[in-house]
Amino acid sequence: SDLRLSDLDKIKILGHGNGGTVYQVRHRLTGVLYALKSLSVGDSIRRRQVSREVDILRFTDSPTVVCCHDVFSTPSGDIALLLEYMDAGSLESILAARSRRPFPEAALAAISRQVLLGLSYLHSHQIVHRDIKPGNLLVNAAGEIKIADFGVSKIIRRSLDPCLSYVGTSAYMSPERFDPDSYGGNYDAYAADVWSLGLTVLELHLGHFPLLPPGQRPDWATLMCAICFGEPPEMPETVSGDFRDFISRCLQKESSKRWSVEQLLAHPFVVGRDQSESDRAFCDLISSSQPPVDF
Ligand code: ATP
Ligand code: MG
Repeated sequence: SDLRLSDLDKIKILGHGNGGTVYQVRHRLTGVLYALKSLSVGDSIRRRQVSREVDILRFTDSPTVVCCHDVFSTPSGDIALLLEYMDAGSLESILAARSRRPFPEAALAAISRQVLLGLSYLHSHQIVHRDIKPGNLLVNAAGEIKIADFGVSKIIRRSLDPCLSYVGTSAYMSPERFDPDSYGGNYDAYAADVWSLGLTVLELHLGHFPLLPPGQRPDWATLMCAICFGEPPEMPETVSGDFRDFISRCLQKESSKRWSVEQLLAHPFVVGRDQSESDRAFCDLISSSQPPVDF
């Protein structure tokens, strides 16, 4: 496109991450809002990671994935991604804005369906996201959820490529990514995203990270033990059988027993209720969770 970095005014910071800072920016002439994600490049490992993120964002073209309008190199040698602005924040910020009050099941069905459609798009193009979590699922006022942050994603050649070259750590990582040998070694790389989706949806229902007691800020060893050796997370008595079953299909420790994205898209939890009803439940939840508008 013919946008220039100098035509954009920084308005505020939207978030900080590992790689850099995300700003809300406005195009001076059109008034259109965007998110500008700056990535510091640094060493060669980091350079490869950044170029992966850029390659994937340049390639993807789906309403289920945050759109990247442009990629700039900044005068200081860093990279800046001009992204579609998602005006309702992330599922993490929405959960926080509700003081971590549980999401109702109908809204979770809409969320699950949308994220599964996004994963279906990515997986069908040999992309494993590897960092699905509430903060990387962005939302707009129309009730659309889009997958963002391809900072640790990977394009894989064969579906059984072990997906182990993970740099960094996340509480949403599946057991086989910690300890590939005890899980058969030759596992399906895509199944890791399904695990993370299951944890994400369950967290939105429980209001806290499912594998640890509420409020705990664990060290990395505690977390790894909980993921690899812990019991499946408890679910409240009040959840429906469909929801319970959906979560347990996602959170199978053995990746070969985990359901695929395509199987989950046909799960009764996702297809069993009227879609417009669950979409409306999610839209209501968004509009009741917005922080006061600042002018
Ligand atoms: P982390 O390491 O925390 O995952 P990151 O550096 O990889 O972060 P992102 O996850 O892409 O960066 O963005 C960080 C935060 O910035 C998001 O959680 C979200 O709150 C905000 N953000 C990112 N992109 C957008 C966007 N397109 N629209 C609105 N907000 C955004
Ligand atoms: Mg992120």
